[in-house]
Amino acid sequence: MAQELKVGIVGGGYAGMAAAAELASRDIPVTVFESAKQLGGRARGVQYNDTQLDNGQHLLLGCYRETLRLIELVGGDVEQDFLRLPLQLDLHGHFSLRAPRLPAPLHLLVALLAAQGLSWGERIKAARFMLALRGMRFRLDHDMTVAELLRQHGQDADLALKLWEPLCIAALNTPLQKASAQVLLNVLRDALNRKRADSDMLLPRIDFTTLFPQRAAEYIERHGGKVHLSNGAGAIIPRDSGIEIVSAHGGETFSHVICAASPTVAADLLRTIDALAETVNHIDRLEQQPIYTVYLQYPAHVSLPHAMIGLHRCISQWLFDKGQIGGQHGLLAAVISAEGVHQELPQEELAQKVIAELQREFGIDTAPLWFKVIAEKRATFCCSPGLRRPSQQTAIPGLLLAGDYTAGDYPATLEGTVLSGTHCARLCLPGRK
Ligand SMILES: Cc1cc2nc3c(=O)[nH]c(=O)nc-3n(C[C@H](O)[C@H](O)[C@H](O)COP(=O)(O)OP(=O)(O)OC[C@H]3O[C@@H](n4cnc5c(N)ncnc54)[C@H](O)[C@@H]3O)c2cc1C
Repeated sequence: MAQELKVGIVGGGYAGMAAAAELASRDIPVTVFESAKQLGGRARGVQYNDTQLDNGQHLLLGCYRETLRLIELVGGDVEQDFLRLPLQLDLHGHFSLRAPRLPAPLHLLVALLAAQGLSWGERIKAARFMLALRGMRFRLDHDMTVAELLRQHGQDADLALKLWEPLCIAALNTPLQKASAQVLLNVLRDALNRKRADSDMLLPRIDFTTLFPQRAAEYIERHGGKVHLSNGAGAIIPRDSGIEIVSAHGGETFSHVICAASPTVAADLLRTIDALAETVNHIDRLEQQPIYTVYLQYPAHVSLPHAMIGLHRCISQWLFDKGQIGGQHGLLAAVISAEGVHQELPQEELAQKVIAELQREFGIDTAPLWFKVIAEKRATFCCSPGLRRPSQQTAIPGLLLAGDYTAGDYPATLEGTVLSGTHCARLCLPGRK
């Protein structure tokens, strides 16, 4: 049965490579077409000034089970590949929350009650809110914005600014006033409510191309599959005999095609297929949100008080010390997620603001040796309430969609992405429509 399957995958980001690795693990022949010179898509390694960076600083959570499973499937070692930190949120000088070594969700309740930088009343309100969410099994009858949910549960402005807004922006890359409360609750349910290790924060010690897609390519090739770089799909054409992928090297017909390109590219590739007009319309309507990462290389002795630390009411939202994370001493990354005033600034000015914040907050008086701003203007979809996302299955049998923007419980995260990929892989199996 398995021999009849021949799967073509468009896009070698995390979604496409997850689908390909899952199929390869069942010895199903796959061919990946990737238009870029390297794998990883929005989560890819980038070289700059002889330094290994990523297209943006990423963070995983302990509850990202499918991503961690696949990293290990293709030969990674999660304990070596990541710096694992127990749940801790520090907004330098304003707020500090640390989860003690207690079973979930007690670890969170104690952390909230002991949090520094909140009044006693605020801490009680935050703990009550978490208990209420647990009582509701993290399910809302009707979705609403996170801002609205916080209001309903008496989480005042200070609490929102110090705790919920940084969490919401980090998880959903969408401001409180626009973000889906239900999707945030899905993440809180999985990260905070089951095992303590689910809320661990995992900071990669190696770049994102090496972490999974590169290893996956080697795994796929060992299982008889092919991964073509610099060979993007120019068209996807349903035929009587299957589905054809047309690339610069010609056309090839597959029993199944998983389109795992980013949403804008996927919409363009599918636009010519009349039966998919509704799907394309769906994708076109998705609003996008940016993420900016400012990398700064300081002399090696420069470091931050923690591997990851937040700033309160600053342009820089989260700072990462790559020296503490992966031995790249003096290399700092400032992450600015979701829409905001920073989008209006020229990159040089944005970097200077980050440099001034580092000086003011941590007394870093030395100038960086260099900086690099990576602006991903279409980093993720805007995760708004009640958003309908396109299903992995399309009106064309055998033509599937994978990617962070497709239907699922999660916001645009690696876990949501990987889950969409492995789901598509299973939909290709015999007996699955
Ligand atoms: C700056 C930034 C920071 C982020 N931080 C986090 C984080 O901390 N934690 C987290 O979980 N998530 C984070 N994310 C989200 C995460 O990176 C994405 O959800 C995920 O990488 C999306 O993967 P994908 O495979 O769906 O799409 P993509 O990564 O966009 O992959 C699509 C692939 O298709 C290729 N392609 C395009 N056109 C064609 C074509 N015609 N033919 C063949 N191939 C084509 C592209 O080159 C690309 O490799 C972040 C994203 C960004 C941008």
